[in-house]
Amino acid sequence: MAIFRKGLNLKSEVADDLTRDYHSQLVDRVKAEGHSLKSGRLTIHLAKEFGFCYGVDRAVDYAYQTRKRFPDKRVFLTGEIIHNPHVNMRLRESGIRFLTDPEESIKELKDEDIVILPAFGVPVGELEELCNRGCTLIDTTCGSVLNVWKNVQRYARDGFSAIIHGKAHHEETRATASQAINIKNGHYLIILDREEAELVCKYIRGTFSGTRLMEHFKHSCSKGFNPERDLIRVGLANQTTMLMSESLALGEMIRDAMIDRHGIESLSKHYRAFETICSATQDRQDAIQVLLKKQSFSFAVVIGGYNSSNTKNLARICAEHVTTYHIADSLCLVSESELHCRATEAASKVVHSDMLINNWLPTTGPIAIALTAGASTPDNIVGEVIEKLIACVNT
Ligand code: SF4
Repeated sequence: MAIFRKGLNLKSEVADDLTRDYHSQLVDRVKAEGHSLKSGRLTIHLAKEFGFCYGVDRAVDYAYQTRKRFPDKRVFLTGEIIHNPHVNMRLRESGIRFLTDPEESIKELKDEDIVILPAFGVPVGELEELCNRGCTLIDTTCGSVLNVWKNVQRYARDGFSAIIHGKAHHEETRATASQAINIKNGHYLIILDREEAELVCKYIRGTFSGTRLMEHFKHSCSKGFNPERDLIRVGLANQTTMLMSESLALGEMIRDAMIDRHGIESLSKHYRAFETICSATQDRQDAIQVLLKKQSFSFAVVIGGYNSSNTKNLARICAEHVTTYHIADSLCLVSESELHCRATEAASKVVHSDMLINNWLPTTGPIAIALTAGASTPDNIVGEVIEKLIACVNT
């Protein structure tokens, strides 16, 4: 069994394929012209940081290198390499198979098979199973995710339970949680938002029972989690793509509860935190905030997969300032009068559902659009959206 963690030395051989599949000359032009483009009464303002992050760029590059290096082998992905349907479709078209498909099974893998691990990593148990099958592994786990794992492992070794701000079913959070319990006596609890953090705080302060707490978190904590024992010392970690401001707020809430319970002088014995939002996520969140504060906009458009956590959080940020349309691609812009998008709420409880918006374009006067894209959205998708926006306004 072999594990490749630094690619397959075929970067230059796949460069043209990556350019063909994901590059956009139009996006290059918009960037070169100061991240804005004017066409008739429409001006598009593109955030300074948007789209593919370093981790996604690397994961997709390694997947292409894998296909090139092993043209005659069966190549599998453990699941979506990143949360973008177009990128996953391209990989399928190249013959890469997805172990999450109903007809595939990890149990059917043979030692001559190749398996690519995605940018958000895989849980410890799954990795062990793949190793036991003797497959060749191409590990594209992002360095920023590995950094979270290190912190969570350190917490567990020092007797601190990990409180993970994330989505319990997200691949990255499941992988991070598995790192906590891979250390003897390690435990974790996953919190999604302020409301869930508040329940933990109430328990710490002694105003909420352990029974009720466990009833609420029964599907998002480690087996045998005992709040009486496992919420005495806690360390905060994040899914790397969460909303930075929310993660900081949750950390403060739990820190304050620990001070109330144990006193400020004992805080270091009961609470730890490391900032584990990745820099790419933070840069994209910061860039759209900067853009939105610069001027007023008719609306914002956020491009990205509907299951992409960082894209949803970009949409939440925009929705706090202006009407926001979270779209998957240019096909969502059906016409100048019809648009399909995901509903986004600025509040902590985000409801994402498909929506059809009629008359989304102002029919008269100038239109200013703030545009950004999640870390798993390639430039060609952004370019297609820009072209479609221009076409919709100018019909
Ligand atoms: S969003 Fe951050 S952690 Fe995730 S792949 Fe990109 S750089 Fe890595």
